[in-house]
Amino acid sequence: MVKKFPDQEGRFGEYGGKFVPETLMPALNDLEKEFNSAITNDAFNNELNYLLNTYVGRPTPLTYAKNLSKRIGCKIYLKREDLCHTGAHKINAALAQALLVKRMGKKRIVAETGAGQHGVATATACALLGIQAVIYMGSKDYERQKINVARMKLLGAKVEQVNSGSMTLKDAINEAIRDWVTNVDNTHYLIGSVVGPHPYPEMVRHFQSIIGDEVKEQIKEYEGKLPDYILACVGGGSNAMGIFYPFINEKDTNLIGIEAAGEGIDKSHAATLSAGTLGILHGAKSLVLQNQDGQIEEAHSISAGLDYPGVGPEHAWLKDTKRTTYFSVTDEQALAGVELLANTEGIIPALETAHAIGYLEELSKEIKSDSVLVLNVSGRGDKDMDIIAKRLNFFTN
Ligand SMILES: *Cc1c(COP(=O)(O)O)cnc(C)c1O
Repeated sequence: MVKKFPDQEGRFGEYGGKFVPETLMPALNDLEKEFNSAITNDAFNNELNYLLNTYVGRPTPLTYAKNLSKRIGCKIYLKREDLCHTGAHKINAALAQALLVKRMGKKRIVAETGAGQHGVATATACALLGIQAVIYMGSKDYERQKINVARMKLLGAKVEQVNSGSMTLKDAINEAIRDWVTNVDNTHYLIGSVVGPHPYPEMVRHFQSIIGDEVKEQIKEYEGKLPDYILACVGGGSNAMGIFYPFINEKDTNLIGIEAAGEGIDKSHAATLSAGTLGILHGAKSLVLQNQDGQIEEAHSISAGLDYPGVGPEHAWLKDTKRTTYFSVTDEQALAGVELLANTEGIIPALETAHAIGYLEELSKEIKSDSVLVLNVSGRGDKDMDIIAKRLNFFTN
């Protein structure tokens, strides 16, 4: 019999679990109960599917990338999460959680955001479902991401600047958790990736698995078989878990996650699976970037969405069990990935996605010409145009 993961304590092997203040344990237990009952409830699933179809724009297409395929030397399909409402996969889990919150009778959602993308997805879902959203953001990020701050405000969210610590994501996480502890009776903490204490990694995986479920049907229609490779970028790991999970027991499909190597793995980076060590971040045990005293280190990546010093516990476990493999790609290689997809297919990917594209060159050395590969286009690149234009010197001579 295949064992269920996570187990009852929310563990994936030695990873995962619930490392939170005692006051939050009842809320986590309630959430787990509500989640398990909601996903077997027809009314909940029908409402979620209705919104995914008519609001998010699902199913997203699976596009055959003819020119890119020719360039790399295998058959490449693109799963188009960039075509979701708000431009990335994050809305899948934000909307589902917001719907769950309504079912639980809570009136308020807190979340943290680094670059603002998770904040925007959360604010969007809350606007649609009439829930109050409070988004915590380090004041450094607040300054750097003014447009996303404006988006959140326009969507009716309250954006709280955090001035403690390094004034970035990890400080915003602390503040969001503090708020949740204080207001736990009427407030849900909306986590945007497969991270955090149990049941979040399992719950977010479940809500993002629609990506892989759709791929399974679509690729059978186009190719009559399952893919040989699936490629996805990994920040916290939700778009990767979403496309991987329905294929976990399909042993002939290679599952490959690509992390951000930033300026290089020996310099500043965000390659937690490649270079992290066992630690606790965000309420769960996983691999994290930390110094010898266990202080969390600042991650670095050209893409804000991969710039996270932890990773979902299930990825750490899948890596140990060798079901999945992980590689890392530098800022430079990711920029080359953006250009490659834009030039060959007329699709400008998010810088996060571009890490997966940046790995194709390497993979082309070993891949067979009749191999079928599906690459998860986790988001579109409009949000990154400033950085891309600067780094590619479009406005200088
Ligand atoms: C946030 C984000 C990511 C990284 O998050 P995961 O949880 O690893 O998927 C990747 N791509 C895009 C476009 C994002 O917005």
